[in-house]
Formats: sequence, structure tokens, C-alpha cells
Amino acid sequence: MSKRALITGITGQDGSYLAEHLLDQGYQVWGLCRGQANPRKDRIAKLIPELSFVDGDLMDQGSLVSAVDLVQPDEVYNLGAISFVPMSWQQPELVTEVNGTGVLRMLEAVRIVSGLTKSSGGSPRGQIRFYQASSSEMYGKVAESPQRETTSFHPRSPYGVAKAFGHYITQNYRESYGMYGVSGILFNHESPRRGAEFVTRKISLAVAQIKLGQMDKLHLGNLDAERDWGFAGDYVRAMHLMLQQEQAGDYVVGTGAMHQVRDAARIAFEHVGLDWQEHVVVDPGLVRPAEVETLCADSGNARRELGWEPEVDFEQLMRMMVESDLRQASRERDYSQLLATGSW
Ligand code: NDP
Repeated sequence: MSKRALITGITGQDGSYLAEHLLDQGYQVWGLCRGQANPRKDRIAKLIPELSFVDGDLMDQGSLVSAVDLVQPDEVYNLGAISFVPMSWQQPELVTEVNGTGVLRMLEAVRIVSGLTKSSGGSPRGQIRFYQASSSEMYGKVAESPQRETTSFHPRSPYGVAKAFGHYITQNYRESYGMYGVSGILFNHESPRRGAEFVTRKISLAVAQIKLGQMDKLHLGNLDAERDWGFAGDYVRAMHLMLQQEQAGDYVVGTGAMHQVRDAARIAFEHVGLDWQEHVVVDPGLVRPAEVETLCADSGNARRELGWEPEVDFEQLMRMMVESDLRQASRERDYSQLLATGSW
């Protein structure tokens, strides 16, 4: 019988790649979707027609219990979150509710539906395996570099603090109830499906528009900011592998290679034959109140124990994103021209 997976955050970048990966592995996949008319649901339903949906919100405990009870999953992937770090200074309470307490609600839903109690010593009705989307942002002000599973946390944003709670509460449910719960401490990962508010996608979108003559300048914050950026399609494979291990454990996932924002801009502009320095404007208003330090993954455990390796490098990733945005922007331009001329 095929395995059943429930994914929260299905309308997001990782949710879509993970759903495709699990369907390829023969799973039946449900995505938890919130809101009465979520426009992103239609988009993903078109992209992945084999996907099923169940209603629910990480802010609503009852809806999560109902969703887990309805799907009866073998595996739950909790990817739902407000994922844009700067927003966590604007709405810290909401981000804490969704990204922190939301994890607890999802764990409770799994615990209740699987009938786990402190004394049950593991699930009496078969294990539901739980994956939590932890983040390198938990490290923040780094105690050692590169960061590994044992590196201590010092988050530098309300987002990072909420993710640290989610991380620890997942460990706690593993220890308190014998739940199979793991956290993937994922470093930044991008793709053509990344939200437009994130710097790599902001760059690829702007490069496409500048190439087509639709804009001229791209405003960026700290060009020296460095990240360990990988490809989302590679990282969802690691999520799945983590839930296939005999023993539940947490893993760091990243490429171990660092790149600056200026590298991302240079590669993207060069890909379309433009000089980034002629188009990028530094805007101090876009710099974070408290910047994380150099975050670089030591994914040794994931490579050794999961057999995981990233396949797409940073240059390939940036070029892939620019190509995708260029195709999309060209289609939209052609469509507007058709509308303007009326020549269907
Ligand atoms: P996205 O921002 O692309 O997707 C976030 C998803 O969370 C959306 O589907 C959104 O759905 C959903 N969501 C938001 N609020 C709620 C809520 N109250 N209840 C249920 N769902 C909700 O993020 P990514 O796909 O990039 O990231 C996936 C996870 O991995 C996130 O938890 C993120 O914090 C974490 N992470 C991501 C990294 C990265 O570099 N991408 C790095 C490390 C961790 P809706 O359509 O309803 O808004």
C-alpha cells in the first residue's frame, strides 16, 4: 500500500517541490491549505493535479486535529510558516504564533490522533513520523563555524527565536512521548518558485525586467551579506530521507559554500549579458536591524548518514531562476502587447 503524507505549507516553495518528490516516490499526498479562497491553492492545484487538499490553519488547533484524523498520514511535514525573516520585526507576535506555537499545535494534533501519552512509550496505533522545518536562522550570532547539529543557538530575529522554540518542542515530544519527530536545520534554499520578497528572487525578477527594458534599477540592502544558498529541489530530498531513518534525529542541510549578495547579482546580470554595477543601487533602508553572522552549513552528518548530496550549485541556481523569470516576463509582455493591439 502506498504511504500517505500530509504537508503543511503546501502553497509555498518547499511544499510544492516536496509534494512532487513524494508523488514520484509513490506516495499519496495531501496539502493543508488555509483560508476560504486561497489563490495560491489554485496555482498549486494546476501545477500538481495529483495533489489532494485538506483545510486547516496552524493558528487553529482543532483544524489540525481534524486534518490529521482525516488523512491518517504515515508522515507529516510541517513546512507552514511566515518565512520572510524581516516580517518578524514588523509582526513578531503573529510570527511567534505561526512559526513557534504552530509547531506545538501540529505536534499535539499528531499526538492526539496517534493516541500517544507520556506512559504509552511510543505510538500504540502505528507511528506517524513528523518533520519540522527548522532553520539556520536559529544560529544567528554564531558560536562556531561552520555550524553543525551541536552548535548552540543565538537567534537574531523574532523569526529565529520562534523557529528555535519549534525545534526544541519537536525534540521534547520525541523525548516525552517517544514520537518519531525530527528537525531539518535547513540553510537558505531558493528556486524559481521562491517568493518575490527574497533577495535571490528579487534579483532574478529584476534582471528579467531590466533585460526586457521594463525597469532600470534594482535596489538592494547589504551587498556584503553572505549566505549558504542551495536549491530547494535538492533540500526536499533531504527532508524525505530524514523520515526514512531507523532512529529519529536532527540534521543540518546546506551546501557549505558561501556567496555574497553581490555574487548573486553579478551572476544573474552576467547571464543576460549585463553589468550588475550599472543597475544595482544600495539602499540602507533595506538592511536588517540585526544581521545574522556568516552562516555556513556543516552537513557532514546528512551526507554520511542520509547519503544526501546537493546536485545544483549556486551559479546553476541563479541562472535557472533568471531563465525562468525571463520566460515568464516575456510571456507577460507578449500577452500585454496582444491585449493592447487586440490582435488575438
Ligand atoms: P514559503 O514562504 O514559500 O511558504 C510558507 C507556507 O506556509 C505557505 O504555504 C503558507 O501558506 C504557509 N502558511 C503561512 N501561514 C500559515 C498558517 N497560519 N497556517 C498554515 N500554513 C501557513 O516558505 P518555504 O517553502 O521557503 O519554506 C518552508 C519552510 O521551511 C518554512 O517553515 C520556512 O520557515 C522553513 N525554512 C525555509 C528556508 C528557505 O530558505 N526557504 C530555510 C530554512 C527554513 P499560505 O498560502 O496560506 O500563505
